[in-house]
Amino acid sequence: MSLSISFDNSYAQELSGLYVPWHGQQWPDPQLLLLNDALAQALGLDPASLRSVEGVGLLSGHALPDSAHPLAQAYAGHQFGGFNAQLGDGRAILLGEVIDPHEARWDIHLKGSGRTPFARGGDGRAVLGPVLREYLVSEAMAALGVPTTRSLAACTTGDRVLRQFGMEPGAVLARVASSHIRVGTFQYFAARGETEKLSLLLEYAIARHDPDLTGVEDAALKFLERVCSRQANLVAQWMGLGFIHGVMNTDNTTISGETIDYGPCAFMDRYDPAVVFSSIDQLGRYAYGNQPAIMLWNLARLAEALLPLIDPREERAIARATEVIEQAQAEYRKAWVNVFTHKLGLTQPDAGLIEDLHALWRGQQVDFTSFFRALPAALRGNTDPVAALFRSADGLEGWLAHYRASLDDPQATAELLEARNPLYIPRNHLVEAALTAASDHGDMAPFHALLERVQQPYSAVAGMEDYAQPAPEDAAAIVTYCGT
Ligand code: AMP
Ligand code: MG
Repeated sequence: MSLSISFDNSYAQELSGLYVPWHGQQWPDPQLLLLNDALAQALGLDPASLRSVEGVGLLSGHALPDSAHPLAQAYAGHQFGGFNAQLGDGRAILLGEVIDPHEARWDIHLKGSGRTPFARGGDGRAVLGPVLREYLVSEAMAALGVPTTRSLAACTTGDRVLRQFGMEPGAVLARVASSHIRVGTFQYFAARGETEKLSLLLEYAIARHDPDLTGVEDAALKFLERVCSRQANLVAQWMGLGFIHGVMNTDNTTISGETIDYGPCAFMDRYDPAVVFSSIDQLGRYAYGNQPAIMLWNLARLAEALLPLIDPREERAIARATEVIEQAQAEYRKAWVNVFTHKLGLTQPDAGLIEDLHALWRGQQVDFTSFFRALPAALRGNTDPVAALFRSADGLEGWLAHYRASLDDPQATAELLEARNPLYIPRNHLVEAALTAASDHGDMAPFHALLERVQQPYSAVAGMEDYAQPAPEDAAAIVTYCGT
């Protein structure tokens, strides 16, 4: 079976100056480890041909078809608040775009495909554990209805790569996104004062993500509004799931509103706004409770980059952009209330009840995910499971009474809660166990079992109770490492 895939290359054709044509590295023994058949089919790609030798060549970057014009994208970015004018894909390439049967355009991108001219001191490599983490968590997010890049495949390369804790298996992730344009992509041209190129990038981004804004008056400002709206809604969804991205730098903030770059990400176990899992985030900049403020900060950086396109009179541009960022703050607040309104099955938004609930959780070490799956029992008359999640259940009865009183039909709401709140998420201790088994022992069984659960996050499966349990109290604190 030979490979049948045809790439479109609009990024390569339209955005010269924003990338370097590049290629993948050749590997000692590229092997396909995971293929997302359902995603391949949705893209109009034939899974069997992706499993062929040519398919694996493509998915690992080892041997690319002639129709591909692979490239490494340039971008800038604020990393932990400090600006870097020259980042770019240091270990990744964009193979090109595929057009799916519904005429939608998708980037096919490889991460871990070798050093590029943007690699700086990096080795251009990715290792199996983080590749599997990204595969698993992005697919879990997709199943949870969160906008995200997707994982098409993971390949092993056949060689070993030096990392913090020794030699690890090398791997490549094939990722799919509605585009890889980041806030940092706009910052790249803005920092160089290249307004014409910035304008070309805006035109391209609008054609791809907001085609109805093509040729419209004030397109730059309206585009900024759209990005703000997508990011506000995205981060509200993260907050509703206890998802902590871990490295919300502007180069990891998409204009599509998709979650991207699953490095040191984690799902919060016990509710705590200050919680951080990433080894490199010692000041807690990207803690759970800081994410909304950081999202707005990142959007303000996009606004700054777009200023010359918003209005040539700088003061006027600043005033208009500031208004949009203020709106984004209000939109986030509304989206956050809506997310928790939905999770609680309320018939109408009730910010007071939601805020009281957050206050109730504080200092209680409540398992965030379990809380919402213990509520249905409380609505059916048994408050023991939810009370058991609290250290001290003072105040819980009072809150539950308000909650019940706000519902028209508690029985029907109990069912809604089970349909809307996940039972199975990629819990940190399960992810760690699955990645360790794969990396250290070549045993993919725990990974597959966990992937299967998180792809069907809402329905309880008999015998799988452990997957819905929090980590044991005495489990070592999990630390996640940047995607290296
Ligand atoms: P990240 O924090 O993973 O989004 O990466 C930030 C920047 O570092 C991006 O420009 C990456 O391409 C680059 N980078 C990360 N790891 C490596 C690596 N092992 N080799 C080369 N570049 C890397
Ligand atoms: Mg990144």
